[in-house]
Amino acid sequence: MGPLDPWPAISLNPSRSGTVAAVSAAATPHDAAAAAASSAAVAAAAPSPASHPSPVPLAGPSSPVSPAGEATPGGVALLDSLDRYAEAVREYYEPTMRERVRQAIPPAVLSAAIGEGADTNTSPAVDGAPAAAGDEDPAAAADGDAACSVPFLSDASRPPVPTFTAAAAPCDLATCPDARLTRALLTWFKDDFFTWIDTLPCGTCGGPTTVTDTVGPSDDERAGRASRVELHECSACGTVARFARFAHPLKLLSTRRGRCGEWAQAFTAVAVAAGLTARLIVDSTDHLWTEVWSHTARRWVHADACEAALDTPLLYEAGWGKRLAYILAAGEGVADVTRRYTGRYAELAARRTVVGEAWLAASLARRNATALAALPQGAVRDAAAARGVADWEALHGGGVGTGAPPIGDGGEGVRLPGRQSGAADWVRERGENGGG
Ligand SMILES: [Zn+2]
Repeated sequence: MGPLDPWPAISLNPSRSGTVAAVSAAATPHDAAAAAASSAAVAAAAPSPASHPSPVPLAGPSSPVSPAGEATPGGVALLDSLDRYAEAVREYYEPTMRERVRQAIPPAVLSAAIGEGADTNTSPAVDGAPAAAGDEDPAAAADGDAACSVPFLSDASRPPVPTFTAAAAPCDLATCPDARLTRALLTWFKDDFFTWIDTLPCGTCGGPTTVTDTVGPSDDERAGRASRVELHECSACGTVARFARFAHPLKLLSTRRGRCGEWAQAFTAVAVAAGLTARLIVDSTDHLWTEVWSHTARRWVHADACEAALDTPLLYEAGWGKRLAYILAAGEGVADVTRRYTGRYAELAARRTVVGEAWLAASLARRNATALAALPQGAVRDAAAARGVADWEALHGGGVGTGAPPIGDGGEGVRLPGRQSGAADWVRERGENGGG
């Protein structure tokens, strides 16, 4: 164990539902989400925009909500996993955690938000005071790029009036300090900080290893929030190394290695520590990444640490060739952000069979109401609520935009690469080498 010991007490709650599926999700939240997504379940109701993140009713398109809004084991597992990620992200925002994580980031990277012309006043890293969750001053936030500014909700009780229109869309990230800092963090994280692990090299002879088994964690490994441990056996000398799948942010800053789960969780903690407002994105087809809030563009921006990709939400569908189903955000609240990551939602919706859409929307809305109510009243809560409204509008109703043009079924449009992270064989085996 390293200098970061002792670990803070583990704050993640044990399973709330007590179901086998939920316990499984707790043990391997990432993979369990995929399992949940592939399990047979109730046919999905018609896609509904009812997953509004705000407790305030919002005018917008509506469709009849199916009464078949019943829980299924797959749906419960999906959201139980999401709850754990949301809780982990909330921990990233704790002041002591932020300070400790921040120490791992080179000052030169943190200062990347300064310079290159644009307005640096809104850079959260400039003043050296890490921003708390949603700590921005509403007035200051509204002072951003005028072309991109949208009405800010200073009073959560006031019914929001969505005025986002196509006219507000031509706002890009070129002048956004949040985007500039995110890009610097992504580059540093991938090039200099974190290492991708397919299999560990043998510690005895340096030979190649293969994964022969998965076992439970030791006490030390559990303290680093490893839920399972892979055994990597050397094919030359037989030495077996343990590869614990850690999740504790401080432990990850010490090991600095893993696959997308470790990468995304560590990077999200880093982004938060650097002063950004960030959240984890959980893809039920087995991937995790980050979204960062742009105060300039007033939208959530896709950021994938594994690929050092920024604002390329169609990467998975159009580049890797993934057949997406559920993409959920976990942070200050939870949200179904699937629409941001597809240009073919109608086709995708047919794969959303784990649980009824009405149940999913209602469950997410309930979690958001609870999460928002738990935030400090005033600017913090208002900012979070406004982000939720803006996001919902972007996803469902002619919003600020998702940053990437939709692609048509005819295959025209953007060309994006297959997966870069991971060994070529592994990527091919997962069908993520392109051709979506
Ligand atoms: Zn060996």
